Amino acid sequence: MEKMRRATEYLQMHGVRPSAQRIAVTRFMIDNPVHPSAEVIYDALVKEMPTLSLATVYNTLRVLVGTGAVTMLNVDSRNARYDLALTPHAHFFCRKCGSLFDVPLRDEIAVSLSSDDSGFSVEGVDLCFKGLCGDCSSSRKEMSLTDINDQN
Ligand SMILES: [Zn+2]
Ligand SMILES: [Zn+2]
Repeated sequence: MEKMRRATEYLQMHGVRPSAQRIAVTRFMIDNPVHPSAEVIYDALVKEMPTLSLATVYNTLRVLVGTGAVTMLNVDSRNARYDLALTPHAHFFCRKCGSLFDVPLRDEIAVSLSSDDSGFSVEGVDLCFKGLCGDCSSSRKEMSLTDINDQN
């Protein structure tokens, strides 16, 4: 119940009318800070809301993105991923397992443009590092060890 209240308040804060679907999507994203795709949200929610459709999830996300409550991330070429717009942060995208991690964003990066004389007024920053996450880079090492053993 507490989580439902948090989700409702979050929507109201962004001027979104809190419908059942919007609350469910927001609550899922608060509970699962994994930058889910629409499909991941749909698969999780359809279990408790059997009438939900994937199109409804997309529509809900479009509304939430439009109000700034949710950010759409285009880092994964297979799927758009979604993030609650809590505090500004950067991302790290693992190209192997597709995990998307939050990484702290250093203030200098955001202010570096504002403080020069370009005249730009920075409202946000979309910064994503790419590579292999800890798990994937260590499994690659294990794999190469196995490869060596196979050759012996
Ligand atoms: Zn990975
Ligand atoms: Zn994030």
